[in-house]
Amino acid sequence: MNPFDLSGRVAIVTGGNGGIGLGMARGLARAGARIVVAGRNAAKNQAAVAELETLGPGAIGIEVDLSREDDCRSLVARGVEAFGRLDILINNAGIALRKPPQDYTSAEWHRVLDTNLTSAFLCSHAAYPHMKAAGGGKIVSIGSILSLMGASFAVAYAASKGGLVQMTRALATAWAADNIQVNAILPGWIDTDLTRSARVEVDGLDARVRSRTPCGRWGTPNDFEAIAVLLGGPGSQFITGAAIPVDGGYTIQA
Ligand code: NDP
Repeated sequence: MNPFDLSGRVAIVTGGNGGIGLGMARGLARAGARIVVAGRNAAKNQAAVAELETLGPGAIGIEVDLSREDDCRSLVARGVEAFGRLDILINNAGIALRKPPQDYTSAEWHRVLDTNLTSAFLCSHAAYPHMKAAGGGKIVSIGSILSLMGASFAVAYAASKGGLVQMTRALATAWAADNIQVNAILPGWIDTDLTRSARVEVDGLDARVRSRTPCGRWGTPNDFEAIAVLLGGPGSQFITGAAIPVDGGYTIQA
């Protein structure tokens, strides 16, 4: 058995139309999986699908707003309908809101939590019966270094990302008997649309990231291709409930 062969598998990647999600989708497609890309922006979905079709056996885009419960459930149903099965769910869609905690409205708090955390639970919940019926599956959620560390400007984001790790552990214990492995990836500072404005606007951020990251650079979406294949495929049958930093060493440096 080739532990990195995903031939015949189907993966849903939320937020798979750009950044880290597209990086993971590329890896999964190259390994042989068919990909369902989910995002709000139809043009970005379309561009990602066009690229993924050149790398693997097939891809479709589904326009959804995953801060809405109905969209989480319909995404999974439509993905299964299109490709006939669901083997891998990557909960990657996320937003960040930079402001001091005292300035949050409750609507802003809920928007971040609904998009980053509740959507991951609802998509996992909708995926479970399909994976159980098929005899197994893989769920991978994208946390952050803020799953582990605090930051004065990101109270809702950090709460959502910390929650994803605990959700991962709970689902991993609940569904291990169904041969569903559930893991989390914790990215460090990655050069994507999410961080691009902070990189320009926050004084000294770029230099701070480079000097505080032992690998000495920002991560890129390509850094996530291989771990998506490992955690999405047969090579990770005995890895579950893990939260794996992909951060160039950011969180291990005192
Ligand atoms: P991007 O902004 O490039 O990607 C975010 C993705 O999420 C987009 O594809 C976006 O698609 C999608 N998305 C956002 N909101 C929704 C929604 N309501 N419904 C459906 N899709 C949605 O950023 P990254 O690639 O950097 O982020 C990907 C994940 O990685 C996020 O969870 C983020 O928190 C996490 N992360 C990123 C880090 C970094 O340094 N970049 C560090 C740590 C974690 P669309 O716009 O079409 O809706």
